[in-house]
Amino acid sequence: MNKRGHVLNAVLLSIGLGYLLEPAGNLETFETIVMIGVPVTLGAMVPDIDTAFGKHRKTLHNLPLLVGFFLFPELFDNLEYVWIGVLTHYVLDVAGSKRGIALFYPVWKEEFGLPIGVPVSSNRADLMTVIVTVMELAVAAAIIYELPRHGFELARQSIGI
Ligand SMILES: [Zn+2]
Repeated sequence: MNKRGHVLNAVLLSIGLGYLLEPAGNLETFETIVMIGVPVTLGAMVPDIDTAFGKHRKTLHNLPLLVGFFLFPELFDNLEYVWIGVLTHYVLDVAGSKRGIALFYPVWKEEFGLPIGVPVSSNRADLMTVIVTVMELAVAAAIIYELPRHGFELARQSIGI
């Protein structure tokens, strides 16, 4: 995907996540969208910096970079959600566009992608971006609402109440 697609994806994802976390649609929802949206949009743009520095879809499109951004807030108490932006960039490149990405670069230069993708220049690219974002929000909703409940059920059953 191009930068426009990645920013559209990150902004829509952040609005959706804001409503998942604060469904009321009030000031808290808006604050959550801003709080999440800034770092997520920032993170979604980071991988394509390798169009200018290094090899595109390799240097800044690999799992070590994602792990680095994921660990950064733990180590430095900052950049809480930037990793979500990097992750959603990879998901959009893998699922939404025709050419895959070198997830294990530099160890393994193979580019991985799903066959459902469309060319970045295609007029269906925006539609594909929205479809991928909706799927991501479905996964996020499952994690936010279902997993805590299942975890609670499991804990409840294991102590026999
Ligand atoms: Zn990319």
